[in-house]
Amino acid sequence: MEEALQPLVERLKKGNVKISLMTGAGISTGAGIPDFRSPKTGLYHNLARLNLPHPEAVFEINYFRENPHAFYTLADELYPGRFLPTKFHFLIRLLQDKKLLRRVYTQNIDALERLSGVLDDYIVEAHGSFARNHCIDCHKPMSIADLRKDMKDKSLKGIPTCRHCKGYVKPDIVFFGESLPRRFFDLWEEEIEEYDVAIVAGTSLTVFPFAMLPSEVSKDCLRVLINKDKCGTFETDPRDSDVVIQDECDKVAELLVDLLGWRDEFDQLVEEATKKHKENRLGLGLDETQALSEKLAKEIEQDIQTNTEPRDEENDISDIVEEINELVISSESKPSKDSESNHDSEPEITDE
Ligand SMILES: [Zn+2]
Repeated sequence: MEEALQPLVERLKKGNVKISLMTGAGISTGAGIPDFRSPKTGLYHNLARLNLPHPEAVFEINYFRENPHAFYTLADELYPGRFLPTKFHFLIRLLQDKKLLRRVYTQNIDALERLSGVLDDYIVEAHGSFARNHCIDCHKPMSIADLRKDMKDKSLKGIPTCRHCKGYVKPDIVFFGESLPRRFFDLWEEEIEEYDVAIVAGTSLTVFPFAMLPSEVSKDCLRVLINKDKCGTFETDPRDSDVVIQDECDKVAELLVDLLGWRDEFDQLVEEATKKHKENRLGLGLDETQALSEKLAKEIEQDIQTNTEPRDEENDISDIVEEINELVISSESKPSKDSESNHDSEPEITDE
């Protein structure tokens, strides 16, 4: 495997590369999140107890309209915060910190990229996520805090209900028959030819249009597949330069970390996150991270466009993520308005 990874390692060591990742359920199975499509071990198989007419119904908008209970039973199990990001997610985070990351296209709805500290702006959640919620009737948004409150409200039978029209509210996860987020198509069109490296990981490339992404990168782009099986364009239209690693994503992530000489930073990152997770801190406060991410997104976007060189301050992004984590922790222990506004005016966050 080490030899097969050499072309990737060399490109990364050279620096000044734009990496895109195209990921699926296989990068999250190490966190204990079931793969949607694997028979028996997969999520659909576990849905039998919900008495669905067919397993896919849990993600069908018409079924949700009639019976939102099945989806919310599942959502409660999958809701971000229960699971610690995997080694592979922390590799993505490290790529961000090293200014090598350009974009992560993910089919996953588990938000583990966000929770590993990858910033909103880098992430394209092609099939949506739990990070935003809308009423299915009047389309008004609902905050994560209100949604979580309703999910625990027995008088509502745990179904989040619109404050304006009493319609059901659902997270912005793309259901069957719904269109993918516009951002996915916009970035695909704008950037697909720009990537120097495309790492396709933990996906069998069976869901379209997502599955088309790796076939549309430029001919100079190094394509890397990390998956148990060879699949999609890597099988039907392979390129001479393709790197194919048929193994567990986490195992490959660990090896890459060693080959790149990033071991100490990586271990520190994982250790800190694990500690926070154990203290039940990581994964809470998606609301707060969202607000900060949006504030920072524009700045980062500008930075990428105007300057492909590394940022001035080596630890800029790590600092920001640290700020986010601290804000989350503080707002939990001191949930008053005062402490929130104090944090908003902290100079490290607002200063240019
Ligand atoms: Zn409504």
